[in-house]
Amino acid sequence: MRSLAIINQKGGVGKTTTAVNVAAALARDGQNVLLIDLDPQSHATLHVGLELTPEQPTIYDLLVDGTALGDVACSVGERLAVIPSSVDLVSAELELAGRDARETRLRRALAACREAYDYCIVDCGPSLGLLTVNALVAVQEVIIPLQPHFLALQGLGRLLETIARARQSLNPELRVTGVVLCMHEHGTRLAQEVRDDVAQFLASAAPDRPWHGARLFATLIRRNIKLAECPSFGRTIFDYAPGSHGAEDYAALAREIAAVASSPPARETLPADTANLAPSYVHADGQPQ
Ligand code: ADP
Ligand code: MG
Repeated sequence: MRSLAIINQKGGVGKTTTAVNVAAALARDGQNVLLIDLDPQSHATLHVGLELTPEQPTIYDLLVDGTALGDVACSVGERLAVIPSSVDLVSAELELAGRDARETRLRRALAACREAYDYCIVDCGPSLGLLTVNALVAVQEVIIPLQPHFLALQGLGRLLETIARARQSLNPELRVTGVVLCMHEHGTRLAQEVRDDVAQFLASAAPDRPWHGARLFATLIRRNIKLAECPSFGRTIFDYAPGSHGAEDYAALAREIAAVASSPPARETLPADTANLAPSYVHADGQPQ
């Protein structure tokens, strides 16, 4: 099983749209896919049209009470299963705070189902707290969605540092597979500048960094109104608007992700070069945050 977390602590950059539609595209391509909603806002759960009964266990039960993954996963289509989230998850961080092995709960749950799925895609919430750390400890790969506006790279330093710490302490095989630009507007100078900055930054990563070898995906997810509409219908882009640019782009991104050859994990640890992250147009005070 390949496991990938979709992470960026900023909200509204395209994490959920990417997680849901890449998961759906991989399932359409014949892969068995598990999508995990790790955000208390439950946007991925809603996006796939799941309506939870009060009895339905969720990711909260899996993390806090150790409910088996097989009892929480809901089938939402051929070859696509979802671990739903609910608002209870807000309290999970607090409830787990004092418990043993709080960072490895998702990892242990996933270890038990490695044979059942070809892919596990984790949709993270907009924070770098304990839930996101659970994702970083559980998965092998990270995909970072960015929205190409002028603050796009702000915060990336802290995200990469968190990824490096997770690899150093609990998950030596963790690596960043790539950055995907979402809500892209073709032909704008700013989008081109962000692309150039990201590509340059990734290319200059030292071999001991978890993002060494990470790519800027060639597929650009164009801004497309159908992608914004489909969550409210509880449908993926492939069910809602199969002929749209959104469907075309996410099918292409899923093919690119599937084509990534697994490379051996790089060694070592904390980023020393995150100060280089802020390009000149981001902000004047230098340090990324
Ligand atoms: P996140 O999970 O990072 O908070 P979302 O995936 O929920 O971000 O996207 C934020 C909003 O932007 C949502 O309303 C979503 O429907 C919309 N959106 C995402 N990607 C696109 C796109 N390519 N074109 C148009 N709207 C998009
Ligand atoms: Mg989201």
